[in-house]
Amino acid sequence: MKTIGILALQGDFAKHAEAIRAAGASALEVREAAGLANIDGLILPGGESTTIGKLLARYGMVEPIKQFAAAGKPVFGTCAGAILLAKHIEKYDQLCLGLLDIDVARNAYGRQTESFEADIPAPSLGDPLRGVFIRAPVITRTGTGVEVLAEYNGRAVFVRQGSIIAATFHPELTDDPRVHRFFLSL
Ligand code: GLN
Repeated sequence: MKTIGILALQGDFAKHAEAIRAAGASALEVREAAGLANIDGLILPGGESTTIGKLLARYGMVEPIKQFAAAGKPVFGTCAGAILLAKHIEKYDQLCLGLLDIDVARNAYGRQTESFEADIPAPSLGDPLRGVFIRAPVITRTGTGVEVLAEYNGRAVFVRQGSIIAATFHPELTDDPRVHRFFLSL
């Protein structure tokens, strides 16, 4: 059985662990670089990207995560996790890992009260996905190597570059295991 690490410094890591178990793998909370040695893939959860970025730097996890990805191991970022994977974050000077050739604009749909849910077509996964967007970022640029797996209102919301995937919404907050299963298939 595959073991997926969930970065558990801040944010909704517990929901991802549940979703990974529901999708048929085991989940391990990762809080230090040493934890990367025992996992087949890593999830960067939603939360507050500034906080998670600061903690990654403080705990010396930035280079180890880059090396994990460079070794071809899959990484999946949701919302704040997607922001952390980006090449560039508009208007904010904060840490990003640059593992995915996208640019993002934080909180681009507005404040908490503008958080919303929507059905988003995802042809590669079959039926539409229920997208839960919570103070979500917008992906403002996708590089040529980036495949768009789902769009909402003409904007990419679920993308893939090799074994790195990112969603600006929260599949871990629904009962639909397809996105986590897709990650396991990588
Ligand atoms: N607004 C948060 C950020 O910019 C992300 C929100 C989330 O992960 N749901 O980091």
